[in-house]
Amino acid sequence: MKTRRHRNNPLSILAAVAICLGGNNVIADSCCPDERAAAAQAAANKGGDEHAGHGHGEGEEDTLSMSLDEIATARCEHETETYLCAECRYEVGVVKVAASLLKQGKSEDGLIRTGEARRQAVTATLQATGEVRLNDNATVHVTPRIPGVIESVAVDIGARVAKGDVLFTINSTELGKTLAEYQRSRALAALSKNTYEREKQLFDQKVASEQDMIESQMSYEQHKTDLVAAEQTLHVLGLTEHDLAAREKSHGPDIGTLPVRAPLSGTILERHAVVGELVEPGSDVMLLADMETLWVWIDIYEQDLGLLGGGAKGRPMPVDITVEAFPGRRFSGSIDHVAAVMDERTRTVKARALVQNTEGLLRSGMFCRVNIATDEAKDVLVVPLSAVLTDEGAEFVFKHWKDDYFVRRPITAGRSFQDVVEVVAGIQAGESIVTEGAFLLKSDVLREKMGAGCAD
Ligand SMILES: [Zn+2]
Repeated sequence: MKTRRHRNNPLSILAAVAICLGGNNVIADSCCPDERAAAAQAAANKGGDEHAGHGHGEGEEDTLSMSLDEIATARCEHETETYLCAECRYEVGVVKVAASLLKQGKSEDGLIRTGEARRQAVTATLQATGEVRLNDNATVHVTPRIPGVIESVAVDIGARVAKGDVLFTINSTELGKTLAEYQRSRALAALSKNTYEREKQLFDQKVASEQDMIESQMSYEQHKTDLVAAEQTLHVLGLTEHDLAAREKSHGPDIGTLPVRAPLSGTILERHAVVGELVEPGSDVMLLADMETLWVWIDIYEQDLGLLGGGAKGRPMPVDITVEAFPGRRFSGSIDHVAAVMDERTRTVKARALVQNTEGLLRSGMFCRVNIATDEAKDVLVVPLSAVLTDEGAEFVFKHWKDDYFVRRPITAGRSFQDVVEVVAGIQAGESIVTEGAFLLKSDVLREKMGAGCAD
């Protein structure tokens, strides 16, 4: 059995790596230690020797959980320290790894990476899926307030506009009439003002009667009211003070031209307008949305609803979302609404999160993965998910012991988070453990175990 150890057989190591990677497209979500161990074991079994014989023998658990001092002094049948014996060190959970197999720094050369167990603030999360949609509170269908014919279109689809920018203009006979009414009111107000001032002067000089003065005053007040009403009508239609002042100067041809402005800053998402088209209030001329924030509609399964506290009241529930288009990017937001009804077909409830999209990367219609923080963050000792292995239900990590020696240490794992596992007992913060490729060490142990079994 000269080739039973990995270091003597690089091809089988590669096979183990390939099987693990091939079987797990989404490492963080599905590459659990069990699967990795299974993959490694599958590779280990590839030689076709047998499938049995790798269970624990009597009393083996004890040797695997011996203290490091005990391991250091234990001796095997070959008249040497067990951990130094290539045939027996597996019995005490020790694996020898040549330094050349360790990945250094950020380099990907090598098979095994070590890192420190560390304390970290973690949050219990619920994973869900969702769909990015426009924020209806920041989306408007731009439509004219009065019927008219589109005269010009100032912006194209995709354009970013500021609140108040002119999007298009229409020519409207109704506007012409309203403007004429406004101008008549202005003229009448000016005229009645003059009349009133003259009557007042005459009355002061005791030339005119008080009755005439009062009547002219009432007439003036009436025309002033009419003017204010006409002006307000024009403002409602969309003309600003500035527009009215500009019209005073030019008069003439553009009397019926009404600019339609952006009611908010955002991006033109749809444009249905063409010059010459007749549009009226309610016509969907443009769709304008502020994309700085978007909504994500999240599907929450019935059994997970309790984790959301039944609704969005109380503490805001932070989420971060990821989309396929931008791997590694996280977009943050928080749930602000949980629907009151359940979709009977899918047995899910929709939760809505307001998500920041300041860079404009997210697009309405994208599907996304959502991590919902269902708990306050807590500072706990964690190791990467890939560091934790299981053997017959017992969890363990490989800790760097000394020189080229790594030793299997039983741990008590707590909760699992996105990509880390809480360690309740077994190792201390700052200890160096195998964080990548730990399954290779496990398979090495298994191989030695099986090899030993064969040899007997
Ligand atoms: Zn030995």
